[in-house]
Amino acid sequence: MRSSLDGRRLGRIAVVLTLPIALSFGSFPVLAEPSPPVSEVVPDHQSSTEQNGVALLRVIVPDEAGIDRLNSMGVDLAEYKKPVDGGFEMHAVLSPEEAQNLRDLGFNIVGKISDQTEFTENLIQRRSAVAAEAQAAAEVDTLTPLRAEWFTSLDDQNFLSVEVKSSAIDAATVLTVAWDSGKGTAPDSGGTATMSRFTDAGQYMYHRFSSPLALTAVPTTATITSNRGGSVTVPVTKWLGEKRKPPKKHYVVDFVDRYMDPTEITDRISGLAQEFPKISQIIDLPHKTNGYRRAAQAQFGTVAASTFYVTSKAYGHEGGNDISVALVKPDAASAALSVSVSGKNVVVNLGTNESSAINSTAKAVVDALNGNAAASALLTAATYRGNAGSGLVAAAVATKLTDNLKAPATVSREPFQTKALRIGKQRDGSKVGVFLYCQEHAREWVTPLTCVETAERLLRNYARDGETKKLVDNLDIFIMPTVNPDGGHYSVYDYNMQRKTMTNHCPVNAADPANRNAWGVDLNRNFSVGSVFDGYSGASTSCTSGTYAGPAELSEPEARNEVWITEQYPNIKFAMNTHSYGGYFMWAPGSYKSAGRETLPRPDFGTENFFWSASNHILSSVQSWRGNGIWPGRTGPIPDVLYSAAGNSADEHWYNRGIIGWSFEVGADVYNPQTKRFEAVGFQPPFAEGHEEAMEFSSGQIGILEVARQYADDKKKPASQVKVTDRSETSATFTFEVDEPANVYYTLDGSRPTLNSTKLLAAGMREGSQQITLDKTSDIHWFAVDIAGNVEGNYKPDGNGNNYRKAKVEVRKLP
Ligand SMILES: [Zn+2]
Repeated sequence: MRSSLDGRRLGRIAVVLTLPIALSFGSFPVLAEPSPPVSEVVPDHQSSTEQNGVALLRVIVPDEAGIDRLNSMGVDLAEYKKPVDGGFEMHAVLSPEEAQNLRDLGFNIVGKISDQTEFTENLIQRRSAVAAEAQAAAEVDTLTPLRAEWFTSLDDQNFLSVEVKSSAIDAATVLTVAWDSGKGTAPDSGGTATMSRFTDAGQYMYHRFSSPLALTAVPTTATITSNRGGSVTVPVTKWLGEKRKPPKKHYVVDFVDRYMDPTEITDRISGLAQEFPKISQIIDLPHKTNGYRRAAQAQFGTVAASTFYVTSKAYGHEGGNDISVALVKPDAASAALSVSVSGKNVVVNLGTNESSAINSTAKAVVDALNGNAAASALLTAATYRGNAGSGLVAAAVATKLTDNLKAPATVSREPFQTKALRIGKQRDGSKVGVFLYCQEHAREWVTPLTCVETAERLLRNYARDGETKKLVDNLDIFIMPTVNPDGGHYSVYDYNMQRKTMTNHCPVNAADPANRNAWGVDLNRNFSVGSVFDGYSGASTSCTSGTYAGPAELSEPEARNEVWITEQYPNIKFAMNTHSYGGYFMWAPGSYKSAGRETLPRPDFGTENFFWSASNHILSSVQSWRGNGIWPGRTGPIPDVLYSAAGNSADEHWYNRGIIGWSFEVGADVYNPQTKRFEAVGFQPPFAEGHEEAMEFSSGQIGILEVARQYADDKKKPASQVKVTDRSETSATFTFEVDEPANVYYTLDGSRPTLNSTKLLAAGMREGSQQITLDKTSDIHWFAVDIAGNVEGNYKPDGNGNNYRKAKVEVRKLP
């Protein structure tokens, strides 16, 4: 065992310790094997200064005796012990002097959990929270109602959902809701409930219920009261349940009868294109995937120090699976370690000492294999997860390498040709395009069925259903049912919880076979807007993380295929990224930087209103299948209702190309009337449930197409008016009301309004329009423009006309 107290390392400590403590631990070399202490000195725990610069540090000890030694020295240990390579990780409270003392004794201190910086930050956070609480306590809070709705879900059970924001943002603010049980009943006759405080990235968002509350009667109003004194009464409106034309008797549905793998899915859409050549065609995406294939591997050894693994140069199906490796112990003393290769059989002749015992370490065997020309033409060898490999290896019979892939031969091992189905009567780019794509995440098995069901409904109902004909004749529809076919195959045949692609980007210290289910790239984090590489939250740069963003933005062919489609067909104006599960309908922004919860720019007020009104239609379509109501609290911008997802594809389409990028999570929680609780459905529910999810969200995708057609046909100009909402002796407050989702541009100085004039904003997240306060009588000039570009009164903002809207808002003494 080598000494950790050699002169070189001591010299480095001496230099490093002149730095501040946090830095010095960060740059301290990581030692795998601490030496036993030279002498046992109890560290001095008396402070020389206030707080003494103590930190909570990680100490690695080789064995239980090492822990006993720390204890007997009186070291202040945390109640924590974690087995790690080379012993146990313990956490100790140490001053710089104590830490140095332990190092001098040969202890291996590898980094800090926390130090005085966090302590100071916590004190500052505490003080500001106390101050906020004191200020809030001093005044009555203002309650801003965001949403108050009732809706129906499975079995006609009704639910209540309420969201309210208090101006007192501290945690001591408690809001209670009371609701009536119908018109003319007592305000609290329906029930009362305490709301949950919703915070994200350390910021107060609003108060809500953690899940909607079951109702016995439909309420007309809800009254929210705060323990800070605030109170507000709001009408409870109906969410979803938009009246829809009942489908024609001959409208056919239900074309999926089992979960399908990506090969079957792709064959299905190819078959559809052949059957319906007049109104559909296959598009071969230009970037083939890496393929359902892996290098072959074998691992030898049982403990980390003596373990190594080999990886074939050729993919398993291209010869890697035929390679074998044997570790042979020669029947002789003082034999030299050597490697011989015959065909694809590699034999390692282990070295022995004078008494014929094996003396080859894992590291020596790895070097011998990698140094042998014939062996290294077949494979590469590595120690286990970066271990030094100083343990002795044991003999082993010839072991075949394997790629561990279990799919039948019907699944090709070659790079996969991803396909999209383009549906439309006129596929020349002249119609509004809609891009529906599914299964970015491999394990979300319902999602490709949803896309396939939608394609079948459009093609098979075209001839006889007038509504379907209108969609196919007036839109250009691109359906990509499986974005991630390699991962999809792996999920069906090898590891059902596979989320990412199959491509392994890990270096040798994480590429051993036991990590094979953790490799791959999270495609919905690999895009180029608001990515982890730009500093946004909700993705990882660790190759084994579930949300690994890949080595770079758009590094993966699967992600580039999506971008290609939106660039190749610039008529695409809408996109739906279908995932599972939870029952969500979401839009941009999709991510934020954690510091200050700084989101990507929010869509403007008119666009956000368009999203809410589209939600009503699309989610009513989902509900029309079996009554399942998507919650208001699961509808909205991604980070406001789920979490920040840095580098997701919906943001790519919206921010880079102006495509309205929506995301579904199919698989809404199902209410259990026995337990009176919502129950989550998971990624791969029993097929009976999975089938229902595919049907209802296919209805939702058809709803999206209807929204797109309405957008394409929208010739109606918006109409708006000024509404004064408050007056005092010295001021007047107003806002604008529009008869459809639209943006309002206005001036207050009598000038001509243009698209560069001030735009009406939302008052806040999930709130209504901004209120504008004037301190003197003003002429308001304005116009409204809807999402399809129709301008109120046919006004030309970039022209010279003055046919914009005009009103005078007066500030005057009240009579
Ligand atoms: Zn997903």
